[in-house]
Parts: sequence; C-alpha cells; structure tokens
Amino acid sequence: MNELTLFPYGISILEIIYVVSSVLFILGLKKLSHPLTARRGNILAAVGMGLAIVATILFHKKDGEAIGNIPWIIAAIVAGTIIGWVIAVRVKMTAMPQLVSFFNGMGGAAAALISMMEFPHVHSDLIAAHGMANGQVLAILLGLVIGSVSWAGSMIAFGKLDGWIGDLRVKSMKYVNVGILLVITGMVIYVMTRNVQHASELNHWIYIIFAVAVVYGVLFVMPIGGADMPVVISLLNSFTGVAAAMGGFLYNNQSMLTGGILVGSAGTILTILMCRAMNRSLLNVIVGVFGGGGRTGIDTAGTVKEITLSDAAVLLSYSKKVVIVPGYGLAVAQAQHICHELDKLLDQKGVEVKYAIHPVAGRMPGHMNVLLAEADVPYEQLIESDEINPDLPGTDVVMVIGANDVVNPAAEDDPSSPIYGMPIVKAREARNIIVMKRGMGKGYAAIENLLFFDDKTRMLFGDAKTSLQNLVNEVKNL
Ligand code: NDP
Repeated sequence: MNELTLFPYGISILEIIYVVSSVLFILGLKKLSHPLTARRGNILAAVGMGLAIVATILFHKKDGEAIGNIPWIIAAIVAGTIIGWVIAVRVKMTAMPQLVSFFNGMGGAAAALISMMEFPHVHSDLIAAHGMANGQVLAILLGLVIGSVSWAGSMIAFGKLDGWIGDLRVKSMKYVNVGILLVITGMVIYVMTRNVQHASELNHWIYIIFAVAVVYGVLFVMPIGGADMPVVISLLNSFTGVAAAMGGFLYNNQSMLTGGILVGSAGTILTILMCRAMNRSLLNVIVGVFGGGGRTGIDTAGTVKEITLSDAAVLLSYSKKVVIVPGYGLAVAQAQHICHELDKLLDQKGVEVKYAIHPVAGRMPGHMNVLLAEADVPYEQLIESDEINPDLPGTDVVMVIGANDVVNPAAEDDPSSPIYGMPIVKAREARNIIVMKRGMGKGYAAIENLLFFDDKTRMLFGDAKTSLQNLVNEVKNL
C-alpha cells in the first residue's frame, strides 16, 4: 500500500489524488456531452489524467519501494506527448475517425502489455492460498484478451477507414468467430484451473492466448463494412475501457479503474445507441458478420435532373422551410462555415432553416455536430433525424450537402440492400430536394441511391464549398 498516509483510517495522499482525478474525469465526461462545453470537458479530463500520472510517479510504493526507472518513464511520457500532439494538430478533420481508432488501439495494446508483464509476477502466496483461480489472474487474463482484441480490431478499423483495407466476407466467418471465442474461453479456464506454484510456469499460455485473441480481433472486424463501421468503432472503444479497468483492479489503482469504467460504460451506451440508430442487434456485432459489405446494390434507374445555381437560389430564397442534411462530403469540402453563411442569409429573408443530423452521418459519432459547432451554427438548429422526419412532408426544400447513405431510400424499400433497416433522413418526403455533390459517386456503403433519380430531386454538381459559395453570391444578388 502507499506509504504516505496523511489522513485517518489509512487513507493515503495518493488515494485522495486518485479520487480528485476520478471526479475530474466524470466532470469532463459530463461536459463532453454538449458541444458548447466539450472543449472545457476535454481539458478537465486531461488535467485529471496528468494529476494521476504525476501522483503515481511521486507517491506510489510497491512493497515499500518507490517507482524506479523514473528517467525512462519521463522520456516515454515526453516522447508520447510530442508524437500525440504533433499528430493531433496535423490531422485533417476528415481523418479524425482513423486517428481515434488508432489511439483506441494503442490503449488496447497497453492493457494487453500490462497483462503480459504482470502475469509471471502474480504472488506465489496468492496462488498457494487460492490456486490460479483468483481475482488477480482473472483480471490479467481478461485484460489480455479484451486488450488484444481491441488492439487488433482497431488497427483493422483504422486501415478500413483509411481506405487501404477492404472487406473480407466469407459466409462461414460467423461460425469461425464463435469457434475462436470458445477456444479463448477454454484457454482462460484451462490456465485458471492449473495446479502450479508460480504463474510463470504457464507463461507460454499467455502468448498463445494473445495470438488467438489478435486473430479474433482481425477476423471480427474484417467482414464489417457498408454502413456498419460506427457501431464497431464504438464497441472497440468500450473494449479498451474495460481492458484498462482490469489494469485498475490489478494495481489497485482507483483512477485507472474509474477511467476504464467510464470509457467502457460510455462506449457501451454509445454502442447501444448506434445499434438502435442502425437497427442492428449487438449480438450480431459481436459475432462479427452483419450489415452489408456494401459492394452489391441496384442498377441505376432513370436519369438525374440538374438545377442551375440561380434556380436553386430562387427556390431557397422563396421557401418558408428549408432543411439541410449535412454529410461526409460537407466535412471533406470543409464547407461548414459557408454553409452557415447561407443559412444566416436565408434566415434574414425569413426562411426557417434547420439541420437534420443523422447519427452516423460523416465518419465518426457526432461528426456533424462537431463540424457545425466549429462554424458556430446554433445548437438549437441541429435536429436529430428521427425528430425532424415528421416535419419533412411540410418542408419546401431539403438540401442534401455531401450526404448519401443517410438519405438512401433503399434502407426502407429494398430488403436486399446492405443498409436495409437503417433509419434514414426521409429527404424524399419534402416538396423539393436539392442534392449537392461532385458527381454520381457513391457513399461509404458503396451502393446506388435512388433518391438522386427521384422526380422531385435536382442535382447541383460540384465541390460543396465552391457550390455553396456560388449559391451564397446568387442569394445575395436576388
Ligand atoms: P456518404 O459516405 O454516404 O456519402 C458522402 C458523399 O459525399 C459521397 O457520395 C460523395 O459523392 C460526396 N462528396 C465527397 N466529397 C465531396 C465534396 N468535396 N463536395 C461535395 N460532395 C462530396 O456520407 P453520409 O454522411 O451520408 O453517410 C456516412 C456513411 O459513413 C454511412 O454509411 C456510415 O455508416 C458510414 N460511417 C460512419 C461513421 C460514423 O461514426 N459516423 C464511421 C464509419 C463509417 P461524390 O463523390 O459524387 O461527390
């Protein structure tokens, strides 16, 4: 236990600091739930983490000994901080999901490494008293399995989001994945029921479990594609949290435990919300084959109609209600500021403008909220898609900007579609639809979108930023 005990009942200064940092994590998380306070929330949580790290280095004692290798630890922290800072400052907003996935994977890897390092050091007294079936060994093995799956899965998700890993879909994959899970469970039970004096006698099993868990992580994410990645990303995120919490148990470190539990539970809640948003069951996600690879789809039907800039400007300016559906293309074009300028101009002309926010629009949870908050679009203007859908039949114009899958009617009409069942923004119910995109390119799910061929739809082709700038000029000249 920690020796610097200043308070009654044996509570150490380190424990007090851990509680303070845990409170900072919780306050930070609370503030992250609203775009206006998110930045402060991030800073609060970072301060909590900094505090916990410094306090651990200064005050932690194991068997009466202070932490050693301080120069190495500081060198690693400095190197990690510099690398992380540079990457985060340089990353493009559209590459953020890959980065989040990569960082998440690093958390999983760290948890797995902790387990690998600590397994041989499980106290032989503990083993003598309880055998291998004790809480410490269980925490180590769970941290190893969950951390390794999270690391391998996140690396595959990183490659997929970055576009250099495709989908691998084999029909029997589901059974293979269930089989691997059973094998891992069997190995964990085997290790915990061995009769040994030192855990190190079973060291080789740790490497075997690690290898099999990595294979599972890869196979579990490989088949997932189409519109289903958001669910997997948030699930992997919760895995990393749980794996870190296992480290907290192991080291009796309250701060690590709270941090891990917060990430694990927040990730789990987000996963459930995402599953609902995508109309998928969690079991299907865990087994690893669901949704579509997205490489199928219907053949194009009919022709598309275009709209000129001046017609679009007139249509928008003389409307009463306009709903903008932002999507990934808006983020790619970095057109959020000019989009807000357009909505302010229309507002001055007495047009009511709202934004329809689909939960998986863009490439990361909350992507559109973050993007539009960056352009200072008032939060009250952003309406969740299921809330705004009932208003769309009474809407004069729905303007789809760089969105595709989230407005695709195949989700409602075509049972063979990989996105069938996913709730969408029902853009086609509006009186007029303007779609702004560069060409007839497909969305993330790589399927055709019949909305673009709808009688009420007119396309405004071009990069979203340029088109919006031109549209703003036209509206100003009216
Ligand atoms: P989509 O990926 O479906 O479509 C984006 C569209 O934007 C493309 O069709 C493209 O068409 C257009 N576009 C690209 N660049 C530009 C540009 N510069 N200017 C104008 N248009 C442009 O986006 P959605 O937001 O509708 O859907 C998100 C998809 O991503 C869903 O399938 C979702 O499941 C998936 N996903 C979401 C994640 C999340 O957490 N939110 C994570 C991972 C995946 P064109 O080439 O013709 O311009």
